[in-house]
Amino acid sequence: MKNIILFGPPGSGKGTQAAKLVKKYNLLHISTGDLFRYELGNNTELGQLAKSYMDKGALVPDEVTVAMLKKKVEMNPDVNGYIFDGYPRTVNQAVHLDYLLKGKKQKVSGLIALDVDDEEIVKRLLRRGETSGRADDKDEKVIRQRIKVYEKETSPVFDYYDLNKKSTKVDGIGSLNQIFNRLCEVIDKV
Ligand code: ADP
Repeated sequence: MKNIILFGPPGSGKGTQAAKLVKKYNLLHISTGDLFRYELGNNTELGQLAKSYMDKGALVPDEVTVAMLKKKVEMNPDVNGYIFDGYPRTVNQAVHLDYLLKGKKQKVSGLIALDVDDEEIVKRLLRRGETSGRADDKDEKVIRQRIKVYEKETSPVFDYYDLNKKSTKVDGIGSLNQIFNRLCEVIDKV
């Protein structure tokens, strides 16, 4: 059983690599961003609420995100493990995740952070915005706000798991396969 947190700033390639990793390790990919976009696509109340934060580059409030994540995990109990992508994004979310997994007699196996510099992120996200249809990728101001939120609220999650020696940094620059192999090397060891 492996429970992996794929970590890193917006646009660092978490979603792309998660899609490859779940195939190799037979894990369930849970992306809170995708879950919010799914809700938004169905025009639910939760989707509308999330949109009001996402469009500004802000985090959706923890109580909303934590409850949504818990539901998704509980709906899929019989899996080999999970790849969490875009979650936890605050130390409070991390505490809730540990508690949730503990209730299943499991724990986070490791956190892997994709390391990509800010200017590369802005370039990648603006490029993604040309085709993704995501409003939050179209506006450089929103992109820079997301990076700021990442540094202030999300990066402490790396240190939180690092206290238990569970955090690893991986170079997020290179070809898709190079980065994939770097991630696999870490996952094989946790
Ligand atoms: P990216 O990694 O490119 O920012 P995501 O799809 O992970 O894209 O997230 C898009 C937006 O969804 C975030 O900017 C935020 O508003 C919201 N969101 C996603 N995950 C979380 C989370 N764990 N906590 C709070 N908000 C979240």
